[in-house]
Amino acid sequence: MVVDNDCIFCKIIAGKVPSQRIAENDSLIVIKDIAPKTSIHYLIIPKKHIVNIQFLAKEDISLAGDIFLMAKELASQLSGSQAFRLVSNNGADSGQKVFHLHIHFLAGKHLSDF
Ligand code: AMP
Ligand code: ZN
Repeated sequence: MVVDNDCIFCKIIAGKVPSQRIAENDSLIVIKDIAPKTSIHYLIIPKKHIVNIQFLAKEDISLAGDIFLMAKELASQLSGSQAFRLVSNNGADSGQKVFHLHIHFLAGKHLSDF
């Protein structure tokens, strides 16, 4: 597994930094965001250290599919309309602060337009 020892999400995946885990499978973990932007704010994080979508390789194609299937699984556990939004910041100018690929899973009563 590709790991960066200085990366906060690699440390969370390794259990060296605490997190609130929502789900886990062979390729991904899902944790609660430490600074939630809405009532439900999870991060879907590949276990493999990949900087962002721009660094995805052909060999990561099934991992990319796993991310969407995990989003579907998380949505199925929501009450109400099961509406949700996925956001991925790629590059510092987009607002990316943690340089380990992650997808924000946002849900709640009503998400504002953007
Ligand atoms: P981004 O700006 O897209 O790179 O998002 C990084 C996200 O990671 C932010 O929403 C942070 O609140 C979240 N975050 C940073 N450190 C932690 C942590 N230790 N546990 C959970 N979420 C974190
Ligand atoms: Zn990492």
